[in-house]
Parts: sequence; C-alpha cells; structure tokens
Amino acid sequence: VWNEVLDRVSEHINAPSLKVWFEGTRPVQLYEDGLEISVPNTFAKEYIESRFRPLLEEALDGVLGQEETSIIVSVGGQGRRAGREETSAETGAESVLSARTPRSLKAKYTFDSFVIGAGNRFAHAAALAVAENPGVVYNPLFIYGGVGLGKTHLLRAVGHYVEDQDPTMRVRYVTCEQFTNDFINSMRDNAPLEFQKRYRENDVLLIDDIQFLENKVETQEAFFHTFNALYEENKQIVIASDRHPKYLQTLENRLVSRFEWGLVTDIQPPDLETRIAILRKKAMMDRLEVDDEVLTFIASKVSTNIRELEGALVRILAYASLYGRQVTVALAEEVLRDILPDSDYREIPIELIQHEVCRYFGISKEDLVGTSRSKAFAYPRQVAMYLSRELTDESLPKIGKAFGGRDHSTVMHATNKIANLINSDRDTFNQIHEITYHIKSKR
Ligand code: ADP
Ligand code: MG
Repeated sequence: VWNEVLDRVSEHINAPSLKVWFEGTRPVQLYEDGLEISVPNTFAKEYIESRFRPLLEEALDGVLGQEETSIIVSVGGQGRRAGREETSAETGAESVLSARTPRSLKAKYTFDSFVIGAGNRFAHAAALAVAENPGVVYNPLFIYGGVGLGKTHLLRAVGHYVEDQDPTMRVRYVTCEQFTNDFINSMRDNAPLEFQKRYRENDVLLIDDIQFLENKVETQEAFFHTFNALYEENKQIVIASDRHPKYLQTLENRLVSRFEWGLVTDIQPPDLETRIAILRKKAMMDRLEVDDEVLTFIASKVSTNIRELEGALVRILAYASLYGRQVTVALAEEVLRDILPDSDYREIPIELIQHEVCRYFGISKEDLVGTSRSKAFAYPRQVAMYLSRELTDESLPKIGKAFGGRDHSTVMHATNKIANLINSDRDTFNQIHEITYHIKSKR
C-alpha cells in the first residue's frame, strides 16, 4: 500500500525531495481507514506532517478506495516493526492487526468541519435535522449535486453525528458500488439473509452515489426491498446522487417516486466567500499558516469543485516547501497555471458580466452603469458588481470605475447586499446561479 501511495504522490513531489523525505520512511501498520508510517526522527515527522500529510492522505484515499483515510507518522519504526514481527510469529499477523486496529482513527467529515454557504445551506440544514432526529423529519433525505461539492462529507457527517449522540445506533455508510458488490456476492454465495441483515438491521443507512444504480435491474430490486424494510420501521435513509431523482433515467419509477417521499435538496457550487472560508478552515485544521491574500487568490481561481480547491492549496504549499519559497500570490499563480485547465483559468472581463446581466434583466448598458436609483436598474447593477467581485480578480476601485466611476464602498455595499440575499433567499440564489452559468459559458 505504502509504495502505491508513494507512487501517486511522486507525481506532485519532485524526485530529490521524495528521496530526502521518504527514503527513511516505512509503513508500520495498516488500519481499516489509515496507515501508520514511521520516520527516522522528529524533524522528519514534523516536516512530513506539516507539508505532505494532506497529499499523502489524498493518495491513500485513492489507493484504499475510501474517502476518509488518515496517515499517522511516528518516529523510530525499527523497534516497533521488529516487535511486531516477533508477536506475529506467536499469534499470527492477522489477529495482532485486528486486535490493535481501532475501528476509526478520526473523523474528518463532520458537521464541525463543514463550512456553510449559499450553495449548501439547505442541504446542510436538512442533514443536520436528520442527524438530530433520525427517521423522524425527512425520510429519505436525498441530496444531489455536482462532483466535489460536499455530498459525501454531509452523508458521513450525519453518520458521525448519530454515532456520537448515541453509540448504540447502528449506522452504515456505503457507496452504491459497495452495495452492488455485496449484493452480487450474496447471490454468488447463496447468502441472501446475510445481505438482508447487513442492510436492514440499521438505524441509519447512508447510500452514496446512487446514480450508479442505473442499469442494474437486480440490484435496484434489492435496493427497493431494503428501502421498504427500513422505511417501514422508520429507519433513516440518506441518499446522495449527482443529479435529481427524476433525471436518474433508467431507474425504476417506483424507486424514483420513493426518493421523492422525503426531502430532495441540492448542493450548488460555493460562492467566493464560502470558498475562502473553506480554505481558511482547512488551513486552520491542518495548522498551516497562509496569508488571506493567497487563500483569496486560490478561491478566485478554483470555483467549481471543493476537492480541487483544497488540492490546489495543498499543492501550492508542497511546492513552496520543496523549493524553499515563500507562499505568495505570485507563487500560487505559478503553481496554479500548471494544474488548472485553461477554461478555469481564463479571465472573465467585467464587460462580459455587464453584458450578460443587461441581457438577463433586459436593460441597456447605459442604464446599468448610469445614475438612476430606480430599482429596475439599481438591483441589476448590484448584481453585476457582485458578480464582478466574484468572478474576476479586479479590485473594488477598479470595479467601481467600470460602473460609471462609483467608489469602492459602493461596490462593497452592493456585494454584501447580494451576498446576504443569496444566503437568505432561494430565488436570488437561483437567479445568480443562472447568470453565472451564462457568463461562464460565453467566456
Ligand atoms: P462530493 O461527494 O459531493 O463529490 P465531497 O463530499 O467528497 O464531495 O467533498 C470534496 C471535498 O471537499 C472533501 O474533502 C470535503 O471535505 C470538502 N468539502 C466539501 N464541502 C465542504 C464544505 N462546505 N466545507 C468544508 N469542506 C468541504
Ligand atoms: Mg462523493
């Protein structure tokens, strides 16, 4: 496993540093959801923990095919390794491993680590409500949205929360893939009861990426029965999907209609403020010191996928440490230019934003940047200023200038106002989302 992890990180760390930092490391112990490695000294431990842990964990996620793995770094592997080999000679490696294997090392995906913003406010509230009262409020809870927007995070958070509140609650998180494999294996082994037991004897069942149930007729059937059994006993079901149930085209209607019995809610991409907040939280949790300016820059460049957002931060830090450089906006720019696809990086001109806003509201550019305070113009103007702040790197004064020479406090006021509206009002949120979509597709 460790070699595979190294293989993966070697794409992001240059060969000399890989040699310097990882030559002396050894895998010590594999856990269900993590890997312990040992390093020669505390200096290496601190260095690896502070610089590479996120990158290593990302790689380990991939290798283990899980989403929440941890890397533990300990000092002085030799003794421990030898010790383990001794014991395993007596008792067999397997049993030693399981005896010492904690079920879970730490929970990364919790409500505490989830940053709330316009795009996920409803989904978060629903998930929390469900976690507080499983089986009572919304059943099933169906969360859908694009890649890397926090669906898995919310599902896991529900699970952790329920377990923390009441350790006797039986919670099971599975991906649709696991469910499918379990089902197929149970057919093969002729053990349908075991399968039923595993899935029906839960208080909370969390099923991730349900879209993969498409085209699997028999597994759908199995899921249908599981669903009914749980539902009838008021057991909580939470489902994540990349799209709305009605677009799960080849799913049986009776399943789709059941998904709509409870609450269906979406997750939308985070706005700039939320993206900055997510990076801040991430930096704080990993105890990384990064200037706000740099975080803001990253957040402005990576806009549609939170996994990539976090990945960008990690890569910039890794790069800086490898080349002994300060983490500055200039450095971030250099690194991001390499890793971002052109389309994400291409600048959006303010004129394009103004053009699309005018088109959307059916007003002229003159009125948009003009002096009229009539709501018909003032509101679109505020929206356009907000979007200029959101989608470009231009400073407040620059934006003000593009809007008929307004000063920066006007732009700030407009930006805050729209940001608040987005947070409190679903229609505004959808409207801004739609305009943003138009702008991005014309870039
Ligand atoms: P999805 O399942 O929707 O593809 P994930 O739940 O795996 O996305 O999220 C991708 C990454 O982004 C994870 O590391 C997750 O912790 C992080 N993330 C997503 N949303 C948030 C949020 N609102 N606050 C903090 N981190 C988030
Ligand atoms: Mg996911």
